[in-house]
Amino acid sequence: MAIQLFVPNFRVEECLEQVRECLEKGWTGLGFKTQQIEEEWKVYTGLPYAHFLASNTVGLHLAFHMFKTKYGWNDGDEVITTPLTFVSTNHAIMYEGLTPVFADVDESLCLDPADVERKITAKTRAVIFVGLGGNVGQYDKIRELCERHGIKLILDAAHMAGSRNHGKHVGHDADVAIFSFQAVKNMPTADSGMICFREEEDDARARKLCWLGINKDTFARTTTQGAYKWMYDVEEVGFKYHGNSIMAGLALVSLKYLDRDNAYRRQLASWYEERLEGVDQIKLVPMTKGCESSRHLFQVRIKNRDQVMMALHEHGIFPGVHYRDNTEYRMYEYGKGTCPRSAAASSEILSMPMHMGVTRADVDTICDLLIRYIA
Ligand SMILES: *Cc1c(COP(=O)(O)O)cnc(C)c1O
Repeated sequence: MAIQLFVPNFRVEECLEQVRECLEKGWTGLGFKTQQIEEEWKVYTGLPYAHFLASNTVGLHLAFHMFKTKYGWNDGDEVITTPLTFVSTNHAIMYEGLTPVFADVDESLCLDPADVERKITAKTRAVIFVGLGGNVGQYDKIRELCERHGIKLILDAAHMAGSRNHGKHVGHDADVAIFSFQAVKNMPTADSGMICFREEEDDARARKLCWLGINKDTFARTTTQGAYKWMYDVEEVGFKYHGNSIMAGLALVSLKYLDRDNAYRRQLASWYEERLEGVDQIKLVPMTKGCESSRHLFQVRIKNRDQVMMALHEHGIFPGVHYRDNTEYRMYEYGKGTCPRSAAASSEILSMPMHMGVTRADVDTICDLLIRYIA
């Protein structure tokens, strides 16, 4: 039996019940369950605002679009970012004509505050922080330096559903946090996400911008009067970025099991650690103290990574790589050489299978093979 990196664990009957409710009610779009998941997400995380989206990627774009127009940023203004991420993080900066400036990571594989500070210029407007695998890295220091320099902090929390820092759910002290509920993330739907602003006016504007700029306040007012449904106002160019009730239904089920699933991920991580700690030639990526991670990923570093990966494939075990250094991509090659620690990590990191179907025996099998093939 093959052991995959990620396998979403859908509670099928409960999901079907959610979808059935939508279909029977004749309401699959915006509203209904999208409102319900927003309310439940706010209660779960303690975050003050939440808007349900079609994906994390659209939320990242929305955040840059909104801050650029709100604060009068110019084309070519800079956003400090990590090369060790999924391309969405950096594309979202480009969508708005801003320039990704790469800073290096530390041993947690998250942004290193010292290098971030070195890369601040007169044109720096924001830092985007990726909590890789659910870990907070040195987020606290980055937040402090953003405040000190008067620049915005955007949290790409795609791996962080259920991650807590000093006992509180992550996101409350960023200007905006964006979560992903994509199928292989730790709170799976098919495709959806959540954007959580710190300020109410940003949340209100996001709600309009995610539905083409349509002002639903007028809409709601006129519908309650029973007429003039088309008499809404459109205030600015918006997007079709909001989520729908089918996805929200799946998210409601996933949220119900999120803490339980994350606890099992942490159990898997501690089994991996038990077997791999102290093994020469394997380095574990350290967790930050005070962080209760979602443990979306369990990453190790090995010198002969590609060789080990091929060998594991032969045994039906399929680990992953998160991520290839983005400055190796042609479109970001202008950043090549600026982040040596990211470049080194990129050729050494390996993400071990992490999902509800992995057993203790699987972990033992995987670790035996890892140890056999490391050089
Ligand atoms: C998956 C992922 C995204 C994009 O999320 P989608 O919901 O698929 O758009 C962004 N950033 C990181 C770090 C991710 O892993």
